[in-house]
Amino acid sequence: MMNLKFDTLAVHAGAEPDVATGAVAPPIHLSTTFVHNPQGGQPGAFSYQRDDNPTQQRLESALAALEGGTCALAYASGMAAIAAVLDHLQRGERVVLPQDCYVGLRAFASEVLPGRGVEVVAIDTTDLDAVRSACTQGLALLWVESPSNPCLRVSDIAELARIAHAHGALCVCDNTFATPVLQRPLQLGADIVMHSTTKYFGGHSDVLGGALVFARDDARHAAIRQRRLLSGAILSPFSAWLTLRGCRSLPARMALHCANARQLATALAATPAVARVHYPGLAEHPGHALAERQMRDFGAMLSIELQGGYDAAANAVRKVRVFTNATSLGGCESLIEHRAAAEGEHSQSPPGLLRLSVGLEDAGDLIADLQQALAGA
Ligand code: PLP
Repeated sequence: MMNLKFDTLAVHAGAEPDVATGAVAPPIHLSTTFVHNPQGGQPGAFSYQRDDNPTQQRLESALAALEGGTCALAYASGMAAIAAVLDHLQRGERVVLPQDCYVGLRAFASEVLPGRGVEVVAIDTTDLDAVRSACTQGLALLWVESPSNPCLRVSDIAELARIAHAHGALCVCDNTFATPVLQRPLQLGADIVMHSTTKYFGGHSDVLGGALVFARDDARHAAIRQRRLLSGAILSPFSAWLTLRGCRSLPARMALHCANARQLATALAATPAVARVHYPGLAEHPGHALAERQMRDFGAMLSIELQGGYDAAANAVRKVRVFTNATSLGGCESLIEHRAAAEGEHSQSPPGLLRLSVGLEDAGDLIADLQQALAGA
């Protein structure tokens, strides 16, 4: 096999023409069941859709190729993929998580794990000394999210993987914000990459999904795969197909997403109503130098804190016209969200923080929209 460049893999991985028909675009196999041979076994490799199915298999091979992993498992959502990893923690083990991370990860860890006797420690993973002190005996898993949601903190994935491995623990990295176009955590030493494919892989805000990509096809992968079979948290073939289609344009979309975000971040940094811009592409961002080393570009997620706090943020999301006030990210359309309002009373987000998913519209239109929404904020 030729050593293909990333953009070529994005177009061709899991895209082999259909053997039965010669169709160039992959077919969607909706069948839930596959015939048995009279003497038992299957003529093909499949038995039942929940165990495995051809469309999901294509997506998994594409995800593994793009992340540089050995194998991958697709899930019904990003949360199902997160739960699949956390479900494997045993009584007496310890998991270390970032303080700034996807709110669903924090909720699963705090609501489910302590009842199972798993100790949860949340720390600032950008502070390696804090990580070293939190990684004590019993450490089974160090979770990394970089850049993080919603404050865009950048953590040193290679160093965190080294610390985890020194304790015989796993390093799992949520690569949803960066995508493998910008960052490849397995090459930096992580053991498992987790994705909400709902975001940039799907790319059009119309398909939910999640994935785990494994550095090694080992006993852990087999155990997590077996658990997926038992719990049934698989991705539907249609969702797998849509996500696979998203892979083809991922590098091209990410290039435009990132270029737009850079322009927007620069404009927002010079906007009086804005107290802080959290975007790793800005030279003054505390994680800028590290992001330059471990990422190919800085992504298209950014957040801003307004001088006027909670009320100013609530007001701004009511005034946008090109941005849409909605949760989620990674689609073609730009989204804005007042995280504290969306997360409710237990929110840990700064009260005046607006999270932006920068889309593929004209950058000038996006800047003008935010400037009118923030005028007088
Ligand atoms: N990880 C990150 C960084 C996210 O932003 C999200 C959702 O917003 C998830 C995981 C969860 O993914 P899903 O919504 O597909 O369950």
